[in-house]
Amino acid sequence: MSDLLAIAYLLKGDYEKCLHYVELFKKSFNLDEFDEIYKEEINFIENIANNLKNGVIKKEEWLNRLNEIYADVLNQPLPESYKEAYHNHFLDEVLAYYILKEFIEKITKKKLFKKLLLKRYKLKTYKFKSLLVSSNISISGVYFDYCCHPNYGDDIVGILKDHKVYIHHKMCSQVSQMLNSKIKMVFVDWDKSELKERYDLIVSIENHRGALANFLQYLAKLDIDLLSIRTEKDTITNNYISYFELEIETKEQSIDKIRKNLELKTKVIQITNIKDSYQK
Ligand SMILES: [Zn+2]
Repeated sequence: MSDLLAIAYLLKGDYEKCLHYVELFKKSFNLDEFDEIYKEEINFIENIANNLKNGVIKKEEWLNRLNEIYADVLNQPLPESYKEAYHNHFLDEVLAYYILKEFIEKITKKKLFKKLLLKRYKLKTYKFKSLLVSSNISISGVYFDYCCHPNYGDDIVGILKDHKVYIHHKMCSQVSQMLNSKIKMVFVDWDKSELKERYDLIVSIENHRGALANFLQYLAKLDIDLLSIRTEKDTITNNYISYFELEIETKEQSIDKIRKNLELKTKVIQITNIKDSYQK
């Protein structure tokens, strides 16, 4: 039964042993005395083992060939009784067909998975401000969509569109909708080396020439980035004071320290960590 041994070793992935038993089978028996299907089968197994040994996958070709070899067997009705089956050895071939079919489909998937993994290792990492993007195609920029605004440290996903990466919160409803259509995702993560916090800040600045410019310069000195600024004049009480609402970003984690530093130059009405105000 060295032909069955050949199949068994093929399934186990030991192609050397499989080929050994194929050879043994061919030496022990005169292939010409066998049915066409038997001959084809043993040659087919040898062919698959040889290819796999060299890492070659020919899924479609193998499946076509398999269907050709076993076409007659598959067209036969199955035996209706044990007695009938006992005298009918084609059941072996039916089993061999389905086992080989499953094997070919499975091993192709395995190899495909390996290929995908290899691709992942070729990824290049891009850095955009506080974000890291890994992709195997070039990235021209990173953008936040309007639907959700993830904060530093939140779980995020990156969606690739025309070499641009759009960052969404992992739980964003837009993303779950998009997952149904064909979208490309890329690996994104926060750059932990540049941990920055965002704050909402309201200050009052005396309304004289150069006051705001001085204040902004002071912010820069403190290594605070200005993201947005809005102004409102206090028209009820004092025309000479303007209120500014600023969105700032800085590595400083202590809100008290920021407040103290700012108080040296201006009056801080309110300062809140944006992360905290979103969670409320
Ligand atoms: Zn979103």
